[in-house]
Parts: sequence; C-alpha cells; structure tokens
Amino acid sequence: MPAGVKTEVRTYQTYINGEWIESESGKTFPVYDPATEEVIAQVPDSNADDVNRAVSAAKAAFEDGPWASTTAQERGRVLFRLAEKIRQNAAQLAELEARNCGKPIVEAEFDINDVATCFEYYGGLATKVVGYVNPVPDNAMSLSLKEPVGVAGQIIPWNYPLMMAAWKLAPALAAGCTCVLKPAEQTPLTALEIANWLADVGLPPGVVNIITGFGETAGAPLVQHPDVNKIAFTGSAAVGKIIVKQAADTVKRVTLELGGKSPNIFFADADFEAAIDGALFGVFINQGEVCSAGSRILVQKPIYKKFVDAMTEKTKKITLGPPLERETKMGPLVSKEQYERVRSYQDIGKKEAKLAAGGGRPAKFAKGYYVEPTIFYDVDNSARIAREEIFGPVAAVIPFEDEKDAVKIANDTPYGLAAAVWTRDIFKAFRAVKALRAGIVWVNHMQPTYVEAPWGGYKQSGFGRELGPGGIEEYLETKQVHINLNEAPIGWY
Ligand code: NAP
Ligand code: MG
Repeated sequence: MPAGVKTEVRTYQTYINGEWIESESGKTFPVYDPATEEVIAQVPDSNADDVNRAVSAAKAAFEDGPWASTTAQERGRVLFRLAEKIRQNAAQLAELEARNCGKPIVEAEFDINDVATCFEYYGGLATKVVGYVNPVPDNAMSLSLKEPVGVAGQIIPWNYPLMMAAWKLAPALAAGCTCVLKPAEQTPLTALEIANWLADVGLPPGVVNIITGFGETAGAPLVQHPDVNKIAFTGSAAVGKIIVKQAADTVKRVTLELGGKSPNIFFADADFEAAIDGALFGVFINQGEVCSAGSRILVQKPIYKKFVDAMTEKTKKITLGPPLERETKMGPLVSKEQYERVRSYQDIGKKEAKLAAGGGRPAKFAKGYYVEPTIFYDVDNSARIAREEIFGPVAAVIPFEDEKDAVKIANDTPYGLAAAVWTRDIFKAFRAVKALRAGIVWVNHMQPTYVEAPWGGYKQSGFGRELGPGGIEEYLETKQVHINLNEAPIGWY
C-alpha cells in the first residue's frame, strides 16, 4: 500500500464449521497497527458459547465427518495444497503480518516462507506415521497403533502469529485431529485470512475452526471444555501455569511452549566479529519479542570491555523504522501494553545496572510503540532484568571468569528454553552443550529454528516438543492391540 494511504478497517467474523459467522454476543474488538496506533480491523469477541459451537463442530468432524475416514495420503495432500496457497499469497500475508505485529517486512517474509515449509513438512510426515509389532512372549500378535488424539485446542501468542498457528495446525492435521485455534488478541488477522482457503484445499467443515477473543473469555473455556482432548499452548509461563491447572479437571493432554531468559555465552576465544553480530541478533531480532531471545549475554572477562563497546557501537546504528520499509531492522513493539512493559524494564535496569545503549523511546517517531534497543552491562544475575522475561529489545550483559562460572550463571534461571555458546574450541563447546539445561543449544549461532528439528523447553519453559518428527507424536495416542493366536480356550477354569 502506498505511503499515506489509510488502511480500510475490515470487520471479520469467526470461522466455525466451515462458515463465517457472527459471534454469539455480536461484540467485536479492535486490532491495531502498532506503528501508527490506528485500528486496522475489528474481530469477534468470542465467548464460551462460541467456544462450545466451535468444539461441537470439531468433535462432529472428528467422529462423523469425512475427515475421520481420510487416508494419511489425503491429509498430506491437503497440507501441500495449503502450503501452495500460502506461497502464492506470501507477499500479502507478509505485509499483513508486518503491519499487525510491527515486525520488519523482511522478517515477516521469512516467517511466511517458514509457515509454508511447516505445512509441507507435516504434509510429508503424514504418511510416515507407523506403529509397532511388539515382541510379546506368547502365541499372540501385539500391535501398537497410532491414532489421532481427537479435538485439539490451540492457543498462541502474538510474536510470530501465523508461524505459531502453523506449528500447531500442521502436525495436528497430519495426525488426523480436528482443531479449534485461538490466535492472540493482538494479532489474529493472518490466521483469519488463511481460513478463507481451508475449504478450497480440501478441509471438510469443522476440521479447523478459528475463534478470536481474549484469554480469559475464549481461551479458558476452550481449555476447560470436556470435549477438547488436548491443549497445545504457546505463551507466557504465567498463563502456562493457569492452563495446566484448568486442564486438570478433564485430564487433558497438554503441551506448553513457554518463555525464557536464555543465556548467550561468549568465551574469549570466539571469533570477535561473529560474536558481536550473534549477540545482537540473538536479542534484538523481532524487536526482542522472541521466546528464545538471548537476553542474558554472558561475556568472558578478557574480552568483556571491548565486547560491550563493540555491541554498543553497532546497536546505535540499528535502523528503527516503519515495518513495511525494507531497510527497517527493528519495528515498533506489538502493543501499547507491551511498550509500557518494556519501558518499565528500561527504568528498572537503570537502577540495577549500567546503561550502555538505548534506555528510552527513540525521539524520531511521533507515533508508534517504538523503543530503543537497550544494553545494560555489569548486570548481576540476581537482578530483575536478568531473571524476568522482558520480551523486548533489552539485553543484560553479565561478565564471567571461566567455563564453570559461565555454566553456573547460565543455568541459574527458572527457565530452560534455549542457550548458545560461542568458542573456537570444540571440546569446550561440547562440555557446555552437555552442561546447559535447555531444550535447544546453539554453537556459534543463535536463533535459527527449523521445522525439521524439535523445539521446546526444559524446566519452566514448558514440556512437550513441537516441530520435527516428534511434533506429530504430541497429537497421537498409542493403542495397544492384542491378537490371540491360540484357538484353544485359556484353560484356567
Ligand atoms: P500470553 O499472555 O501468555 O498469551 C498467550 C495466549 O494465551 C494468548 O492467546 C492469550 O490470550 C491466551 N491466554 C491468556 N490467558 C489465558 C487463560 N487464562 N486461559 C487460556 N488462554 C489464555 O503470552 P503473549 O503475551 O501472547 O506472548 C508472549 C509469551 O509467549 C512470552 O512469554 C514468550 O516467551 C512466549 N512464547 C513462547 C514460545 C515458545 O515456543 N516457547 C514462542 C513464542 C512466544 P490473549 O490474546 O487474550 O492474551
Ligand atoms: Mg496476552
């Protein structure tokens, strides 16, 4: 869209049982462009009644609809066709994503490509789900069959909206489940857009339902619903804890992908230029709104001062700007609420440590939820900025003495999503890989994530794994089948 043209405000409906319908209450809420602070859409404010309708549709589609008898090949083809649609419409989706969540357009394009790749990956994996023949010590055949878990409730955050939707929908559909997806209140638009294609690519009504709304009024009833067999949740640790409690009464299967306070560790022998880039990329990509952000930067003392200076110098040159401009490296934060949260941590940091860069709001923008990329140094690992997930471009640089010291500080956190270690010494790198308590450890890099490889956390970063071959297992039950091969009676009585 040319600069200066105002976006038309579209009003969306909710997508249930293959149809666009009004929410029960008829209420809607606004969705914003965080760069202009303008309303760009209205979406339904779904409540428990809407959740009930969506879950009924998903249950009927799972039990009685044509989806129940599709072959794995057919499900795979559906996912390939959806991936194709996404690729054909990648430019529009990327623009909408960038506009709605504030991320730079170049990053949004990367995300949308990854969304399509995710549907392709699970399209291929649909036909590779196999069971077992168990070697039981009897004249019997024992089988382990894999079956879809049923209706999956899927609740996602706002930082990678369509990517998070794909990470949930793709393995669920490949497994043969049906889905009720609740996008984040701030960023529901791209998920609603792809709903337009679901029937065309061959998904029967009720297989995927998308309800927009708030966590307390739409998310919670989904988690508590007795006909929902599994909840896949990505979001904050605070809400994750609520989800586990809410799911207990109906003994739901739950997978949780929660937050982190991930250490990015730099030994003195690391390639210096690569290290500086890696430190900045690790914490500032996507405005720092990344669950695996390397927000604790641990630097070995011999290079510490030079490292902080080099990071600071490069940070001052980061191009902040409107998300749709191609040279933009950092856009606004997603919402006013997130902006205020990050600004408050900038103030907390000033009391807890020394400020090297940023620390406020960039003066050049009259509007928009922009914050300066911020570096604090001489941070103690007990400081709030080293312990609490900020989810914005705020780095805490912490010095360390030696390997033992680095690992101790790195693991001293309730989280365990990710970690990275930079060194030219392969033995040192592998010792760190073994010692770090995290679901993913990068060596001489931070952040690349592939749909082919597992993703998830240790400790309070959650449980269960998405992506990779294991991602589909989270949507499967195992049924043991025992086939007696003795024709004679048991002969016990
Ligand atoms: P959030 O506040 O926890 O919300 C996540 C989702 O849960 C939203 O859809 C939210 O609805 C919903 N929700 C809130 N309260 C609920 C309740 N009581 N019952 C059911 N659902 C409820 O997280 P966020 O602020 O959107 O996202 C940031 C967080 O996500 C960070 O902590 C980040 O680390 C984490 N994250 C983790 C990963 C990972 O893979 N590990 C990836 C991305 C993000 P609303 O939209 O109304 O809030
Ligand atoms: Mg929220």
